[in-house]
Amino acid sequence: MPQMKDYYKILGVSESASADEIKRAYRELAKKYHPDRNPGDKNAEERFKEISEAYGVLSDPQKRAQYDQMRRLGAFEYGNFRGYRGFDGRDFSDVFRNFGQGGRQYTGSFQNFPGFGDLGELLRQFFDFGDLFGGGQTSTRRPGTERKQQLEVEVELPFLTAARGGEVTITANVPERCDACGGSGARSPAGVQRCQVCGGTGKVVQNQGVFAISQPCVACGGTGKIVTDPCPKCHGRGEVTVTKKFAVEIPPGTDTGSRLRLRKAVRRKDGSRQDLILRFRVKPHPFFQRRGKDITCEVPLTAEQLEKGTRVRVNTVRGKKVEIRIPPGTKDGAVFRLPGMGVRTKKGTGDQYVKVRLRG
Ligand SMILES: [Zn+2]
Ligand SMILES: [Zn+2]
Repeated sequence: MPQMKDYYKILGVSESASADEIKRAYRELAKKYHPDRNPGDKNAEERFKEISEAYGVLSDPQKRAQYDQMRRLGAFEYGNFRGYRGFDGRDFSDVFRNFGQGGRQYTGSFQNFPGFGDLGELLRQFFDFGDLFGGGQTSTRRPGTERKQQLEVEVELPFLTAARGGEVTITANVPERCDACGGSGARSPAGVQRCQVCGGTGKVVQNQGVFAISQPCVACGGTGKIVTDPCPKCHGRGEVTVTKKFAVEIPPGTDTGSRLRLRKAVRRKDGSRQDLILRFRVKPHPFFQRRGKDITCEVPLTAEQLEKGTRVRVNTVRGKKVEIRIPPGTKDGAVFRLPGMGVRTKKGTGDQYVKVRLRG
């Protein structure tokens, strides 16, 4: 996740530093790390760039105000974009993605995104984007598909439940609207204030030559509101993590990596309901193993049993035992197939393979 840079730390000044203090700190550091004074020193060069970038933002009152507001919002506190989540029900990347004119969907790289203008430049400065946008041209997002952050949790399933299917109760930790603040994120109605950056409109107008382009306000995420007195229960997020139980019908043959969508299972902060996706991980079994629809197992036999032949009853995932005749002279490692005793799915039924082992 991208990290928001701490420009105050970079310049070694406090958040309340005056314009003069910032200028002084910048001059001193810039002198120290200037490439002319440190020829060939890559670290100094990097530092110099960082210092210049920090000064570029903190020396401009408007940029500094926006930067401060983003820090206050928690984007900095949590160290990444996720920290920004929960203030308006979208995550930051959604905010970016919807920045385009007329709701046009973003498909290219961030740098090429039209309509960002100065604001985009500013955001690019604040954050290390990494591959948040899917590496530009390689983005797999299709135009016109709405991208909403999916709620997905991993759930462990007992081996036999996964193989046979059936109704189970799943316990999962999911985000839900905070009942203490009703999702507003504020301790009281007075704890929500008008965003100063956009004046409560949720939009910022940027002049681009002859055009004036209206964009969602970054500071408040387009809501026009800033939480100034956070709810003590959810710390301003408007949501808390709760442990919930869901009665779920597991299809037979569910495997590790299989997913199941529970429609509108989770109530979000804005009151809407969102799907919850369960991603299954099948627990190992002491006797059985799965290979797709087929089941494998091993049965230990004595040297005498292998030599003289015997009959053994083996467990199956189908619930009943099946007898196998082991002929005389069977070798260690021989495999016997039990047709149709594997996992029964819509796409057919597997077999069970029983390998006999010389008991050591
Ligand atoms: Zn709350
Ligand atoms: Zn705003």
